[in-house]
Amino acid sequence: MKRPNIFKTVLSVAACKFTRFFLRKTGRGGTAVPGIVAMKFSKNILARVSQGMKIVVVTGTNGKTTTCNMLHHAITSCGKKCFLNKSGANLLHGITSDLVSNATWNGKPKYPYAVLECDEAVLKMLVPLIDPAVIAVTNLFSDQVDRYGGVQNTLEEIRSGIQKSDQSVIILNADDPLSSSLALDIKNPVIFYGMDPSVGVQGNVDLADAGKCPVCGCNYSYDFNIYAHLGGYRCTKCAYKRPDPQILIRSIDEKAPDHTKIHVGSSGTVREIDLSIPAVYNIYNAAAALSCIKALDLSEDAASDSLSSVRPSFGRFESFTLGNIPMKMILVKNPAGCNQAFSYVTSLSEDFTAVLCLNDRTGDGHDISWIDSTDYEKLCTDPHLKGLYVCGDRGADLLKRVKEAGAPSDTEYVADYKLLLEELRSTEYPIFLLPNYTAMMDLRTVLHQEIGTKGFWE
Ligand SMILES: [Zn+2]
Repeated sequence: MKRPNIFKTVLSVAACKFTRFFLRKTGRGGTAVPGIVAMKFSKNILARVSQGMKIVVVTGTNGKTTTCNMLHHAITSCGKKCFLNKSGANLLHGITSDLVSNATWNGKPKYPYAVLECDEAVLKMLVPLIDPAVIAVTNLFSDQVDRYGGVQNTLEEIRSGIQKSDQSVIILNADDPLSSSLALDIKNPVIFYGMDPSVGVQGNVDLADAGKCPVCGCNYSYDFNIYAHLGGYRCTKCAYKRPDPQILIRSIDEKAPDHTKIHVGSSGTVREIDLSIPAVYNIYNAAAALSCIKALDLSEDAASDSLSSVRPSFGRFESFTLGNIPMKMILVKNPAGCNQAFSYVTSLSEDFTAVLCLNDRTGDGHDISWIDSTDYEKLCTDPHLKGLYVCGDRGADLLKRVKEAGAPSDTEYVADYKLLLEELRSTEYPIFLLPNYTAMMDLRTVLHQEIGTKGFWE
């Protein structure tokens, strides 16, 4: 990729920094606009400001933000300065804003390492500009059908991104037949991560997103299942099967509300890890982060230790207190994410109050038909559910769905988040807030006013 000359670089960087400064001074957290301005002066500015950086790009349906957060914490714990696009601006302009703003005035990167969350459809535009050292794909699930098309479509988008870099080490989830199929027909080095068969269960496979064998087009059968279509799959006709993971979760030793203890094997060494963010899907995120550490040739010991002190990112198992009631916010954007959050909440076997918030704005996808295929029954019929509230632009639709799913008869639709917090103050049980993306933003604004959390761009 041709890099801009010094004149264009300085103009582009200055325009970006001033725009960002101005937006922040006027109280706006706008993440895309400075990047748009920077690219007006030089459309390849990213190629300049990323030159010499070791960059990890993380994409996939679920777990991008948490994987990036864990990886950033791990790289920093290895003693390296690392940049992270933590505002959640994972489209091209947002990434440009972040990287350009964090370069020197003449376009030199200030950090030797960067961890970038990237939208699945944007990967093919980003990769040629920044030449990443590592590309990690967490998993693929049905998500925002009106935006991405089906999950196979998303898979092909990611594939065309990976094909634009023959140097990057590719990190793939061995247990996800979609993610792992990206290893076919590429010459890049690949590191797989996954769970040991002993961690899985028999049956329960949700084949909706599993796809077919990429070699012969036949169906899969499963030797074990972790959740949804993740597990030990093999083709029912040819020899294609789940690859052996180099980073292997050998056991899950303890699942607590606030942490998980696991054993992870890599290169003949088994490490005990006390992961400070709970839920099974975050174990996969930790394994993805450790695979990146291996690809970067940094200390796996230091990185493993660091995972006991990683703090949740924005809306991903983030904790608040309302009065003296603990609240946890878990972002849920699609059926797979919802089902996993419900599994976590119900696995605790403690009484709780739940709040479901559903919007259908551009950041969420306008099509909310996915709520029909989401396992609300698991949540609604749990004996420990002591109160349920639904909110958001499409709260009325969601209320109908949860009633069908067996929600308690006093389940309420609350139109206003301030009112919701007032109502929640009278609950005596821990609260789980389960919003989708823009609902989380609205909810946070009210939480910020009422209990003083930070703005999302801080
Ligand atoms: Zn086959």
